[in-house]
Amino acid sequence: MKIELADRIKHLPPYLFAEIDRLKQEQIRRGVDTIDLGVGDPDQPTPDHIIKALCEAVKNPRHHRYPSYVGLLGFREAAAQWMKRRYNVSINPATEVVSLIGSKEGIANLPYAFINPGDVVLIPSPGYPPYTSGTLFTGGKPYCLPLKRENSFLPDLKAIPKDILKRAKLIHVNYPNNPTSKVAPRSFYEEVVRFGHKNNIIVSSDIAYGEIYYGPERPLSLLEIDGAKDVAIEFHSLSKTFNMTGWRIGFAVGQADIIAGLGKIKTNIDSGIFESVQMAGIAALQKPAWTDLMRKVYQERHTCLTTGLKKIGFDIACAEASFYVWMAVPRGLTSATFAMKLLKEKGIIVTPGNGFGEYGEGYVRFALTQEVKRLEEALSRLKGIL
Ligand SMILES: *Cc1c(COP(=O)(O)O)cnc(C)c1O
Repeated sequence: MKIELADRIKHLPPYLFAEIDRLKQEQIRRGVDTIDLGVGDPDQPTPDHIIKALCEAVKNPRHHRYPSYVGLLGFREAAAQWMKRRYNVSINPATEVVSLIGSKEGIANLPYAFINPGDVVLIPSPGYPPYTSGTLFTGGKPYCLPLKRENSFLPDLKAIPKDILKRAKLIHVNYPNNPTSKVAPRSFYEEVVRFGHKNNIIVSSDIAYGEIYYGPERPLSLLEIDGAKDVAIEFHSLSKTFNMTGWRIGFAVGQADIIAGLGKIKTNIDSGIFESVQMAGIAALQKPAWTDLMRKVYQERHTCLTTGLKKIGFDIACAEASFYVWMAVPRGLTSATFAMKLLKEKGIIVTPGNGFGEYGEGYVRFALTQEVKRLEEALSRLKGIL
């Protein structure tokens, strides 16, 4: 029998990190001491109070059965309290929250609820890949919103052609941004909320890095903007905030019909999050002060890497928030050739910007997911490279 892939995955964009991965494995095999600044996965363990909550919950047979589709009411209440405490946004836990098996799951499933074949989805480039794959799976048409340095890595909504606006149903925004690290100013969020209302377009905000910031000001939630809760859904993740990437837990909050639409898709695809993990999620959300400790760790790394790269003479394009640093590649090189050079000659792994879409070309992304000592070692290897 000849097994043939469906068109929807046959035509996915090629996996651009494959060559880097291959080289990385080869270097490791040859015994090179590689420093991996490529992965967006916290290196620190999940905090103890969260692990304890899981261990307690798992002993209770009540949590061994199928969970509810939308999530434990207790978890949704904790999510609503989080929104109130952190952002002063009022959320009804019964109708305006859905729990997610990681926010990636919700982001990828969202188009199934609202996108018909041929509908347009507005997607930032560079951007998180599930915005595009989720769109393509439904037969929707991705329309690229370039995030350019000269526009401070914000999309130019006024440049979108009228015929595209007419067919568009959904726009993705993501701040603090992966991969550029940019934080959205209030004025941009106000503009995108007006844009959603005016054009009848759902606004989807991805705030996975909302707790990782360096200045005195906490990044905004889109839902803090007047009128946002009529057009928007926001994806929150416990992954980066609480070092919980492996646990698979997040939630979406926002406009009740959008939440219900996403919830309806989920009742047909999955059966919710293991309740013990939700109990651990409640423990995490109820102790937001813990994030101060995490920020301190990243702050030290952030200062170390950005000062070091600048001293060497590199051109840092943006290093505002999240645990990424977005850096322009030296003249004459592409993202991929520069990333290869760092790996081959210095044993340092970074992510080539073009892996996040065509407007990522010309940049590489450093992740602050290694200790200061390793960052210092990377910097000393980079000295004199320019
Ligand atoms: C890591 C990340 C997420 C979070 O994914 P989870 O599924 O919650 O682990 C969401 N959006 C972006 C842009 C990310 O980088």
